[in-house]
Amino acid sequence: MKLYSTRNKNQFISFEQAVLKGLADDGGLFMPATIPQMDSKFYTEMKNKSFQEIGFEVEKKLLMDDIPEHILQNIVENAFNFDIPLVKIEDNVYVLELFHGPTLAFKDFAARFMSRLMSYFIRGADKKLTILVATSGDTGSAVANGFYGIPGIEVIILYPSRKISTLQEKQMATLDKNITALEIDGTFDDCQRLVKQAFVDSDLREKLWLTSANSINIARLIPQSFYYFYAFSRVANNQKNVVFSVPCGNFGNITGGMLAKRMGLPITKFIAATNANDIVPQYLQTGAYLPQPAKKTISNAMDVGDPSNWDRIMDLYGKSLEKLKQDVFPASFSDEKTKDTIRQIFSGKSYVFDPHGAVGYLGLKKYFEKVKEKVVGVTLATAHPAKFGDIVENEINEKIELPPQLSACLDKEKKSIMLPGDFEAFKDFLMSQSG
Ligand SMILES: *Cc1c(COP(=O)(O)O)cnc(C)c1O
Repeated sequence: MKLYSTRNKNQFISFEQAVLKGLADDGGLFMPATIPQMDSKFYTEMKNKSFQEIGFEVEKKLLMDDIPEHILQNIVENAFNFDIPLVKIEDNVYVLELFHGPTLAFKDFAARFMSRLMSYFIRGADKKLTILVATSGDTGSAVANGFYGIPGIEVIILYPSRKISTLQEKQMATLDKNITALEIDGTFDDCQRLVKQAFVDSDLREKLWLTSANSINIARLIPQSFYYFYAFSRVANNQKNVVFSVPCGNFGNITGGMLAKRMGLPITKFIAATNANDIVPQYLQTGAYLPQPAKKTISNAMDVGDPSNWDRIMDLYGKSLEKLKQDVFPASFSDEKTKDTIRQIFSGKSYVFDPHGAVGYLGLKKYFEKVKEKVVGVTLATAHPAKFGDIVENEINEKIELPPQLSACLDKEKKSIMLPGDFEAFKDFLMSQSG
């Protein structure tokens, strides 16, 4: 796969370089120069294939020039070793539960895939690769767990002291081996500033091989396309169109679906469901893209005021609002409506949504009201309800049992290193690391 930067379509780099760089030097996002088509045989056979088998076929189509087949096979088999249930909750409504990985959120797909890819790309290098991540909560735990124990890679996570939940902290600050958690006396913005400064510091760049693992890495999109193929293969029948509702924040998950569609998967519509951070729904309605400071909501992993994958979507649709509107139905919902939905779906159908999943479900229902033709809808549930236990329990008036992944880390001791929010201290810490 050759890739260009969304800011310069005349220059190409390899997939390996794009993954290890993350962001292009010109600040653009990497995009594949051509998107291959799955062949018709794949589509007729996919309903009989497992998630891993489907993922392998898609991965092979995209990356066969970059990575040997047996490595690709190992990557999907190792990375996706957890359940991906598709639960029918109403006629024509399916919930695809993407939250059964080690950190109980869909970000595990990307983190586990990316860690194994990177590990392959750095094989034989004489230096370790050091990954720096600033986190306000969930990305840090997915990256920490995804890279845990991966040879040749050190992960350093910076999180703001006392500004994340105990559960979030325990998920990333209780690991050992190659994962170090730094508790920064400051805000999330301070953490982000420290990371950015480290990347441009010449002493550090000389000593350490640094990279980031943030949401804009092209490697994250690839596994996020697999489950669209998988769910489609399980719900499709000839009479009905298939639509996907996606709870969106930085719009990476939905971009994975758009990639699947470009590879030939006939998805009729994407419902881009947001909370009060409705920059994209507003754009689709008015044609004006107006980034805003993020608003705080109960579906906080979607509190994004300027989605980082936006340039990618614009690139995919040739900056055409009309074309984008053909594929995307926008919807945004208040916290009140989200809470009502959690309560109603529990009492009516005994199904428990987390706040993000509930936003997706609301988007699907709104689309169903709008179009009268028969469609099958899949809504993506991105987090386990136990991760947002206090909000959810309040609505359903029942205790949610913690899955073993969470209860296990709650018993472990926090191992983070406390640092002040200034660059000198952070630099000293990094310089003391072995390269
Ligand atoms: C990150 C996240 C989202 C948003 O996904 P994007 O790819 O940023 O659009 C939704 N729900 C949960 C639980 C998340 O962690």
